[in-house]
Formats: sequence, C-alpha cells, structure tokens
Amino acid sequence: MRGASGAAMSAALSADQGSAAPEHAPDVADLIPMLRRIVGARVSDQAAAEDLVQETLVRVLAARDRVEPGMLEPYAIVTARNVIASMWREEDRQRRNQHRVVDLRPPTAPDEELLAGEERTAIAEALARLGDRERRTLLAHEVAGQDTRSLAVELGSSAGAVAAQLNRTRARLRVEYLLAREQAEPPGDRCRAVLLAISGGDRRRQRQVDAARHLLECDLCARLSQPLMERGQQREEETRIPIRVDADIVTARQTVRELAARMGFVGTDLTLIATAVSEVTRNIVRFAGSGEVTVEAVAEPRAGLNVVARDTGPGIADIEQALTDGYSTYNGLGLGLPGARRLMDEFAVISQTGRGTTVTMTKWRQEG
Ligand SMILES: [Zn+2]
Repeated sequence: MRGASGAAMSAALSADQGSAAPEHAPDVADLIPMLRRIVGARVSDQAAAEDLVQETLVRVLAARDRVEPGMLEPYAIVTARNVIASMWREEDRQRRNQHRVVDLRPPTAPDEELLAGEERTAIAEALARLGDRERRTLLAHEVAGQDTRSLAVELGSSAGAVAAQLNRTRARLRVEYLLAREQAEPPGDRCRAVLLAISGGDRRRQRQVDAARHLLECDLCARLSQPLMERGQQREEETRIPIRVDADIVTARQTVRELAARMGFVGTDLTLIATAVSEVTRNIVRFAGSGEVTVEAVAEPRAGLNVVARDTGPGIADIEQALTDGYSTYNGLGLGLPGARRLMDEFAVISQTGRGTTVTMTKWRQEG
C-alpha cells in the first residue's frame, strides 16, 4: 500500500522525459578497445568479458543523448566497473538463490515488503528535502493534477516558468530520492551539482561542473548517475509479436531478451525472462493456436519489463490447478505456467473458458 507521497513520487519520476535531441553521434565503437582492457583486467573468462563489454556498450548507447560529448568515455569506464560489480553481486545472489531456480520455490514475500517499505521511506525523505514551495507546486501538479497555467496565476509567474521550475524540481527529487535510498550523504561539495546536472539532462551544466571528471573520482556519484542517465530511455517502448507457430516462440524470446538487455537487465535475469516468455508463448501455440505477446518497458514503481501474453483459445478451466507445481500442461515438457510464475517477479493469469487467456508478468530490474 503506497501512501500519498508514494503516488507523488511515482508520477514525478515518469513525468518528464528527456528532450535532448542527438546532435552528434560519437562513435561508440571507438570505446571498445578501452573497455576490453578494463574488463579484461578484472574478468579472466573471455566469453564473460565480451558479454560485459557488450552490456557496457548497450548502456553507453542508452545514455548517449543525455550527456555532453566529453562525458562518454568516463561514463563508459564507470559503467564497465558497475557492470562488473553487478555481475559479481549477481553471481553471489544466484548462488544463494539457486534452490529457488532449481526447486521453483515461491519468492520470499517478507523481503519484498521490506523493499517496498524502504522505497516509501526514501520517497518521503526526498520530498521532505525539497523546499516548501517547490514541494507544494510539484504535488499540486503531479497529485492534484493542477495545470501549469493555473499554477502560474497562483504563483504570479508564467506557465513556461512554472514548467521549467517543475522540471528542475523533478530533477532534484530524483537526486534526493537516490541519495535517501542509498542512505548516503555525498562526500564532496560538487556531488549534488553533478548529480543534478545529470538528472536534468543539462549538458551545458554538466560541462560547467566537470561532471565527466567527477564521475571518475567519486564512487557514489558513479553509482547513482547510472539510473539518472538511463532514465530517458525508459519511456514506454512497446513491442507486439504475433504468436502462431513454433518459430514465433523463438522470435518472442529474442525480442524480449533484446529489449531487456537494452533496459539494463543482465546475466541470469535475461535468461529467466526469456525462459518465462518461451513458456507462455509455447502454451499459446499448443493450446490456443494463435495469440500475441506484447512487451513493454515500465518505469513505475521502478524499472521493469512487462510481458503480456494473450490468446483467444479455449481458456483454462481451473487456474489454481494450472498454477500448481507438477501440473504439466503438455507432455511433461518445459516448466509450464508454475515455472514461468517462479521466474518472474509479478505474475497474473486471467482466463475465461471458451474466450481465452491473458498472462501478465513483470520482472523488476536489479538496481546496480
Ligand atoms: Zn560525488
């Protein structure tokens, strides 16, 4: 259950999308030799190293339009380090959670509740750090839905000025939210200015505060800048894949995997998502004959990938039973619906006999 302030933050985080147009296209390929050196020095397995280089490039490409040209190289270095670190964390997590994947046990709910609680606290804290007037205006706009024109009248300002102020407030809120969630006070005086310039996608300001150099020197900012830079890429990107024959299962799996990788999902999660998509699309081919899968990046309540599989087949008479472990929907092959459910973070099935089935599932991205 999210409080009112939670709703405000959700709205604020998604409300403004980066508007910076790409004005140049520095060749990201030039970064590859450097990235290979950085990754190669830390990861000996060649295939894994190449994966990490690619993962880094995906992220650099995603951030390219939001940062000033001089920042691309430092950003790539910082990203490579983060990607390596999150791989190690991921391996560790995977070891600890191995039983889950193997035994297909349900995810532990208490963890999730704790996370939701921490999220709420961070949002409340971030809001509290805004100025009174900033906060009031933001809440009036995001929660009460008051438009910029009527706000301008109240504030004795212009609609354009109010809109610009709202953008600055959102940029600050994102920074304060990340700091609150990390429970970190920035180590340097320049940290907030750098994070703010990145959060607002303000390239001129990024140059002024020499954000590029700061990211290389400051671990905290290197870590926190990641979600800020990739934010612009998290607008709704929806892809629809028709499902009829076995080959469509492969297409769906690859499409989803690619989108997930672009969004910053890594390693095991990519495999889990692709496997879950295989399972639900296989069901469509076997039982319904035809249907479709839509996949979409979501930003709320945090970055995630949403997959919806729909068909107009015979439907599932007993969903409870179909979701029971060991209940195999076809010849004992694959994992079926219970398996797909365990692989994803959110899972819901709606089915009507004679009309069809809709499976909705979401995987949340690990913060890295
Ligand atoms: Zn810093």
